[in-house]
Amino acid sequence: MDDCIFCKIIKGEIPSTKVYEDASVYAFRDIHPMAPVHILVVPKEHIACADDINDDNCVCVARIFAAIAKIAKQEGLTNGYRVINNCGRDGCQSVKHLHFHILGGKQLPENMG
Ligand code: AMP
Ligand code: ZN
Repeated sequence: MDDCIFCKIIKGEIPSTKVYEDASVYAFRDIHPMAPVHILVVPKEHIACADDINDDNCVCVARIFAAIAKIAKQEGLTNGYRVINNCGRDGCQSVKHLHFHILGGKQLPENMG
C-alpha cells in the first residue's frame, strides 16, 4: 500500500526504532508510548485490520504472537504484559495496517474501556 505509514516503516522509508524483525513480522517502539514498554507488532504483508483476517492470511497472526513472546522476553517483561488490537471506528483504530500493541513495564489498569 503506497500511502500506508506502517508499510513505509517496514520498507525503511520512514524511520522507526526496530525491536524485532523476521521474514513476516516487524516490531517497533510506539512514537507515543502509553506505558514504559509500548511496542507495535505488524505483519509485513499489508492487512488493513483484524476484520480482514481470513483463512488465507491468518498464519501471519500466529507468527505475530510467536514474535510477541520473543519480544516480551527480550524486553524483560517477566511479570506479564497486555496485547491490544484496535479495529475500525468503534475500536479507535487510527492506522489502517493491522497491528498489535504490546504494553508493559508497569502494573496496567484493570479497566479495558
Ligand atoms: P491505533 O490507534 O491502534 O491505530 O494505534 C496506532 C499507533 O501507532 C498509535 O499508538 C501511534 O502512537 C502509533 N504511531 C503512529 N505513527 C507512528 C510512527 N511513525 N512510529 C511509531 N508509532 C507510530
Ligand atoms: Zn500497510
